[in-house]
Amino acid sequence: MKKISFMDLKVENKKERQKLLQAIGKVLDHGKILYGPEVLKFENEIAKLSKRKYALGVGSGSSALLLSLKALNIGPDDEVITTPLSWIATANAIALTGARVVFADIKEDLNIDPNSIEKLITKKTKAILPVHFAGRICQMDILCDIAKKNNLFVVEDAAQAFGAYYKNRISGSFGDVGCFSMNPMKILRACGEAGVIVTDSDEIASRIKILRHTGTVDRIGHELSLNHRLDTLQAAILLKRLPKVKALIKKKRQIALWYSKRLQNVVIVPKENQDEYNVYYNYCILVDKREKLIEHLLSKNIEIANQYLNLMPHQAVFKKYNYDGFPNAKVFSKKLLCLPMNEKLTKQDIGFICNEIISFYKNF
Ligand SMILES: *Cc1c(COP(=O)(O)O)cnc(C)c1O
Repeated sequence: MKKISFMDLKVENKKERQKLLQAIGKVLDHGKILYGPEVLKFENEIAKLSKRKYALGVGSGSSALLLSLKALNIGPDDEVITTPLSWIATANAIALTGARVVFADIKEDLNIDPNSIEKLITKKTKAILPVHFAGRICQMDILCDIAKKNNLFVVEDAAQAFGAYYKNRISGSFGDVGCFSMNPMKILRACGEAGVIVTDSDEIASRIKILRHTGTVDRIGHELSLNHRLDTLQAAILLKRLPKVKALIKKKRQIALWYSKRLQNVVIVPKENQDEYNVYYNYCILVDKREKLIEHLLSKNIEIANQYLNLMPHQAVFKKYNYDGFPNAKVFSKKLLCLPMNEKLTKQDIGFICNEIISFYKNF
């Protein structure tokens, strides 16, 4: 039986491989391995694409979140409102600043529900940190209105949504700061760890430059921070991959369409409104009898990697706070299933997966 991979990070295409090796070779030749010219070039490309004044390369999406919050002077005694459903890095970044993480609820789009935010705002609230889950942008117009009204910052966690649009605006262009991860699983991917922060603010940008450089200016320490540099080799790789990312997103959208056409009457499939362009970092469905279905798919050699089995507030690291609330998130997280999503999947692969899901529910 053919194995269907959830993700597939191998670089098998000879042309792509050659290009990447060439890019790496160039860096080895010029020898400017730390903050090499590729970093600056990559930052310029991202700034242009995000329609932002600044793009600042950092070591990871996690660093992007942490440094953004730090640059906004968020720390102990502050509160930051976020979604309960994300990769744990989101909540950890907030908590590591010393601020309290406040979890709102989500909607069926699996993104933060703007209606659940306002009642959580207190005197201590400093920022809203929405996550564009699975490659679908949150209702940023409404969120930014709430933030403006209440004098709050908006930090976008766009780690899963590079290249996504909402109302003709690209991800990362809505908030005070936009954070991306370019780790090998994401939409635009390095061959290692990488991230980038985008902003229009001179002040935030200069703070981030200091914070990513161990808090130093001209080798003199100004504040407490660690090394959060973007690696030059990764920047060189990202520059090679950037021109191909549109085609990759198109393929992911095609796969999503294949899935949705077959599954829309069987499970709850992700929707896409007229004013959205989703990039399907993951293809997430809501299902009944999830554990049994996963068992069935695994027995057919279909790989399932459910990264979101637990809401962030219910994970061990946050247990001591006894978080509660977010009723929708509790329901949806029990039904959430991410199906294999990688650009190497064929129409036949998707057909096979869908047939197995359909036959599972017929026979249950
Ligand atoms: C991947 C991811 C991060 C962290 O990015 P890293 O580059 O892995 O540190 C943060 N938030 C979300 C939503 C992510 O998916």
